[in-house]
Amino acid sequence: MTISKNQESYVFQCKISETPAQVIGGKGTRITVEKDGKVYEDILDGVTGAAVGALGWGDEYMVGVVTDAVKSSTYSYPSLMGNKESEELAKFYIDHSPKGTFASALWCCSGSEANENCMKIMYQYWLERGKTKKTKFISRMTSYHGFTIGALSLSENARADDFRPILLPKTQCLKMPVCYPYRFQKKGQTEAEYVQELLDALEKLIVDNDPETIISVTVETLPGSSLGTVPPPKGYLPGIRALCNKYDILMHLDEVMCGTGRSNPNGGLNCWENFMPLDQGPDLQTVGKTLGSGYATIAGVLVSPKVRNAYINGSNQVLGAHTYSSHAFNCKVALGVQKKLIGNGLTKNIFEMGNLMGKTLKEKLLSEDNIVGDVRGIGGFWSIELVKDRETKAVFDPKLDLGHRLHGICFQNGLNVMGMQGCVNQQTNEGDFITLAPSFIITKDDVDEIVKRAVKSVNDLTAALK
Ligand code: PLP
Repeated sequence: MTISKNQESYVFQCKISETPAQVIGGKGTRITVEKDGKVYEDILDGVTGAAVGALGWGDEYMVGVVTDAVKSSTYSYPSLMGNKESEELAKFYIDHSPKGTFASALWCCSGSEANENCMKIMYQYWLERGKTKKTKFISRMTSYHGFTIGALSLSENARADDFRPILLPKTQCLKMPVCYPYRFQKKGQTEAEYVQELLDALEKLIVDNDPETIISVTVETLPGSSLGTVPPPKGYLPGIRALCNKYDILMHLDEVMCGTGRSNPNGGLNCWENFMPLDQGPDLQTVGKTLGSGYATIAGVLVSPKVRNAYINGSNQVLGAHTYSSHAFNCKVALGVQKKLIGNGLTKNIFEMGNLMGKTLKEKLLSEDNIVGDVRGIGGFWSIELVKDRETKAVFDPKLDLGHRLHGICFQNGLNVMGMQGCVNQQTNEGDFITLAPSFIITKDDVDEIVKRAVKSVNDLTAALK
């Protein structure tokens, strides 16, 4: 079927009356896209949907995994029966994380749903321990945790503001300052001083709001869609861990976008292993996206022994009943994905190739006269932030919508990226960036090509603004 330019979309999402560009095929690191009646082949996929497609597209091995999953898997309603596939996936994730970090997993269908479940698991954890006053969540300014009501309440961005009247009250979803050294580490301030300032602010928030009422602190290990892949400075995440321990509060890391192998330094799964001692991980962690790599819609909540034990010693029951939790097909497909990512050294590959991509982009873009202010990230997750003036870091007029414009130019130059706005001010949409999150199978040639196309696109946009 060919969709003509003016035909209305039948799908109720995004701009309803416009037919969006449509992916009509994909192989490896390349996708074919139909846009306005024209077919674009050989688009290098620099962002794999939204940091999803770890294995790349049209993977022959996955044809076997998916076929097998259809043939052998049985659906079971989790409140009545379990299945072996969900057990095996949970065991795999636990075994490939630092020893003792996780003890259980709940599988669901999206990152938003994972965070929604996580909020309830954390609240119930305190009920199991008899702490009924614990009803408040802490998360961060300029953050994104999903589009359901609970996850949006944890978030702080323009999307959340659109729905403010129906979200959890701000007094119950407290916000600590964003961690964003490029913008907010003051001139003359050391990294350690900046980190201390952030931790002091968090501690004040905890104390001012009565630690006995705080359920948890949630942060994205490497924030993606709201800020543009800002690696946490040294000591920041361990500092949050220490404050959570001090005040008996749960620490929850949202690794929906950055985790499951995208940015792990040891060929494993968790992004926080870059930034925290391996024996001091989070109490809970949410994951998604690369878990199913686009071949299955799966996400999850990983639970530490501490949380699991509180349940076992309490009611021994996780409240909640979703029809598609622990979905056998999804779990089997995700396990197939993960076995290949780890077994074939692809998590190691993306860490190495991703860092090469990021470092080369940084060298090239920051040594030339253009509109790039910062290039940041780690492993397979990088962003390029645009500024009007490198010295003052002044942002462009949001009406110019340069993040999205650069996305369009990249596409014309054969590179798929994600263009965004609002990293500096979510309310006014100030601050433009693009994000790169290629598949784990990228080669050195792909890296060279991504860099070439991205640099050309930045230069094209810079020239167009003169
Ligand atoms: N958490 C983070 C950090 C995300 O980046 C996202 C999506 O981009 C989500 C949660 C929500 O995931 P989903 O879109 O699968 O609901």
